[in-house]
Amino acid sequence: MKQQNESAFWIMNTGAVWPAAVEEDIVPGPEVRGEGRPPRAVDVPTAILFTLVNLTALVAVPLFGYVYGYTWLDWALCGSLYVVSGLGITVGYHRLAAHGSFHCPDWVKAALLVAGGWALENSALKWAADHMRHHARVDQEEDPYNAMRGFWYSHCGWVMLKDPHRTERYAPWLRKDRVIMWQHRWYVPIVLSGLALPALVGYLAGGPLQAAGCFLLAGVARVFLVLNSTFCINSVCHLWGRQPYSTANSSRDNWWVSLITFGEGYHNYHHAFPRDYRNGSKWYNVDPSKWVIYSLALLGLSRNLVRSGPRHMRQPVA
Ligand SMILES: [Zn+2]
Ligand SMILES: [Zn+2]
Repeated sequence: MKQQNESAFWIMNTGAVWPAAVEEDIVPGPEVRGEGRPPRAVDVPTAILFTLVNLTALVAVPLFGYVYGYTWLDWALCGSLYVVSGLGITVGYHRLAAHGSFHCPDWVKAALLVAGGWALENSALKWAADHMRHHARVDQEEDPYNAMRGFWYSHCGWVMLKDPHRTERYAPWLRKDRVIMWQHRWYVPIVLSGLALPALVGYLAGGPLQAAGCFLLAGVARVFLVLNSTFCINSVCHLWGRQPYSTANSSRDNWWVSLITFGEGYHNYHHAFPRDYRNGSKWYNVDPSKWVIYSLALLGLSRNLVRSGPRHMRQPVA
């Protein structure tokens, strides 16, 4: 076991090659998994909130559908808001706020951050600071969604626990951005508006029962789906998939995660070239987020798109 622990540390701390042949034999030791350290306290308000979201999405939503059924409006709003809030996270929170992969006018940034706020993933300020810590400390104890602690911890367990390593020092520029700070101050009303909007549209279209249907499917179930698709990047994309660009950490390219996360499944490329506005760099990679950013550029609404992949470096990646 001792030898196993040493190999795991060696691989993660030196950034050395992770040989595919022995990959399956490497089981993170207790230190890497955080065992033997004081257990993290439950973040009670967050745990209650997420339990409510899960219970409503997994019990109330199917029950309402069984009793009353869902209309085309419920499904259309659910699908549209999934796309809008999902792109708000990938384009707004991730590639714009966290990585500065492109620039855009303040009103475009505000719109993207409002859309991202509708996904109930914290303000862009906190999200991006956590995410930059993930890149800086990937696979280590300070990694907020450390995949070495297993699937459930990296998927959603980390959300329910207090994080003693939480800090904004990995993204100090965020507090100087007035749009980021505006979204941070108005985060709660923004979240509530993302739930109230489908209910209001439903009410205007068909009264209280239609309002309830839209609220449940396009509000709560949609939040549940976007949350879990985002969580898959932290869990699935650090456990299963290919590592064509770097074996220095556990990040992996997983094409099917890209289908539900608007291109974020090319996570091995993203860890190797984090500032690139593309996560799927090849023309045939399904990366709708890069298409949105590129389309905004064609319309004059985004500029300075960063490309930093292997073709743009002096030394190609071996
Ligand atoms: Zn990652
Ligand atoms: Zn990132």
